[in-house]
Amino acid sequence: MATRMQKIQQWLRSSLVTAAALVTLTVSAQPTMDDVEIKATQVSERVFMLTGAGGNIGVYVGDNGVAMVDAQYAALTDKIAAAISEISDKPLQLLVNTHYHRDHVDGNAGFVERGAKVVAHENVLSRLQADAEFNTTGLPTITFDNELVLKIGGDSQLFMRHYATGHTDGDAVIWFGDENVIHAGDMFFVDRFPFIDLNSGGNVQGFIDNVSAVIAELDDETKIIPGHGPLSTKQDWQRLVSMVIITREEVRLMQTEGLSADEIVERGLSDQWDSWTWGFITEERWIRTLLQEL
Ligand SMILES: [Zn+2]
Repeated sequence: MATRMQKIQQWLRSSLVTAAALVTLTVSAQPTMDDVEIKATQVSERVFMLTGAGGNIGVYVGDNGVAMVDAQYAALTDKIAAAISEISDKPLQLLVNTHYHRDHVDGNAGFVERGAKVVAHENVLSRLQADAEFNTTGLPTITFDNELVLKIGGDSQLFMRHYATGHTDGDAVIWFGDENVIHAGDMFFVDRFPFIDLNSGGNVQGFIDNVSAVIAELDDETKIIPGHGPLSTKQDWQRLVSMVIITREEVRLMQTEGLSADEIVERGLSDQWDSWTWGFITEERWIRTLLQEL
């Protein structure tokens, strides 16, 4: 039986909370989203990005209704729904999950109650079904294996494609109609060491391969909503791939010199990566992720 503190620690590990939220947690010992503000940024004619706490949300205004990508935390559902209704008064029809992590799916149930159907890769459904604490109302009811196109009236549609074993084993990238905008989910952390969830089917080489495959389909004008971080471009994403490749090589070379894992952590990566470290994925955690596959 997990103690309350263990549960909070578990929640912290699974939810990529910000440093500010961490401070609040330490003080009040329970998650609070009261102070979180949902901000909307227009990305293209039909696409908006919402930020609050947890993974970035994409909103797509179709001809007959609205689709959203990811849902952040249940405690924010009212605020997120209010922000969406300021963008469009069309009915919310679809909620696509980029993957199963809590900071992207915790709000699912509240949007189902507001009329949305939840769409996700089939591995997202099986992982959420296996989570006894997940509100079953929010389980995906439309799942796909490789690719799926969902129409939202007229010419408006969402296209989603599964990329196996990268950040998790259920990652999807979503293309919003012909807006030249995509939602990359957690295959994209902007200028931070990424979380590669090795316990949920994630894989470093797969992460490199998958991101490279998506980038190959983009042009210089494509706008990318990342899982975490500001609205970005292909060049920004390429920087992440380069970082993964170069830091893996740095670690491999230290291993070749005969350094132990602890000695590699002690020596660290070269200084150029100092700014990539952050609360959830520190340089040490990133090095240990890389080491697991070397
Ligand atoms: Zn994630």
